Amino acid sequence: MELGPTKTIGGWVSASEGATGFARLDAEPFPAFEPGWVWLVGAGPGAPGLMSLLCYHALQTCDVVVYDALVNPDILRWVKLGAELEYAGKRGGKPSPTQKDITLRLIDLARAGKRVLRLKGGDPFMFGRGGEECQHLAGAAIPFRIIPGITAGIGGLAYAGMPATHRDTNHSVIFLTGHDATGNMPANVNWAAIARASPVIVMYMAVKHLGEIATALMDGGRLADDPVTILSNASMPHQQVAETTLGEAEAFVAANDPPTPAIVVVGHAADWRSLLDWYKGPLRENPIG
Ligand code: SAH
Repeated sequence: MELGPTKTIGGWVSASEGATGFARLDAEPFPAFEPGWVWLVGAGPGAPGLMSLLCYHALQTCDVVVYDALVNPDILRWVKLGAELEYAGKRGGKPSPTQKDITLRLIDLARAGKRVLRLKGGDPFMFGRGGEECQHLAGAAIPFRIIPGITAGIGGLAYAGMPATHRDTNHSVIFLTGHDATGNMPANVNWAAIARASPVIVMYMAVKHLGEIATALMDGGRLADDPVTILSNASMPHQQVAETTLGEAEAFVAANDPPTPAIVVVGHAADWRSLLDWYKGPLRENPIG
């Protein structure tokens, strides 16, 4: 059945009759971005087209964007003209602002009555310290909204033809980080349990300690020939995929120095790539995704 312009969807009467494409978004009942609010928004893994409509709306209505190093600068092309841009990542050798500096800045901007868009790569609550930032905002009585994003460990994998779950491969998946707040391999992870718990393990920030991690997983019972896929710059035209095994991973990283950011996937999700790897050739030339 075709929906005509007078029909309603989910109770909303479409206000965009006649408008098409992005113009119709202007008439849609997006939530108002009120002055003094912070919106904590996930931009997705890289390709601008992977941002959500709420992220787009936030870019179009904010006063200031405070963005991280992982946010693809191309996404900032979509910001409303005249909005301020503040970079909160590491810049050329200088130390990066601490998490505390960033949080205090968000609070100051909100108290000054700005509509503050805090933009993070992927999903803000997935290894993105979004929880910590919101804790402080809540503590300072700053109102906030959270807009999830497509995380690199799921959406990035899709761009490499790797389903995070597949009924023939894995009924569960584990997400973990390869380093803790001190930059070391996380000590409070039960590697032996992880090794046995799920056929597929998706690791963020894991290239640096991959040798130690691989050893810990093999000590926990994973096979040395378990596939390891290193997915760099996922969803970007310069995306790279490297394939090795747990037994070879340390030597592979030492010899090839894979570009970062990279997701490391342990397990047979890799097997699907021969059939499902679709992001190649001219498809990579599109700047949106
Ligand atoms: N909040 C982010 C993760 C932040 S932690 C998310 O949900 O995706 C930073 C790590 O994310 C990087 O070290 C890398 O492991 C991973 N990452 C982020 N973007 C990536 C990309 N485009 N390609 C590969 N890995 C990426």
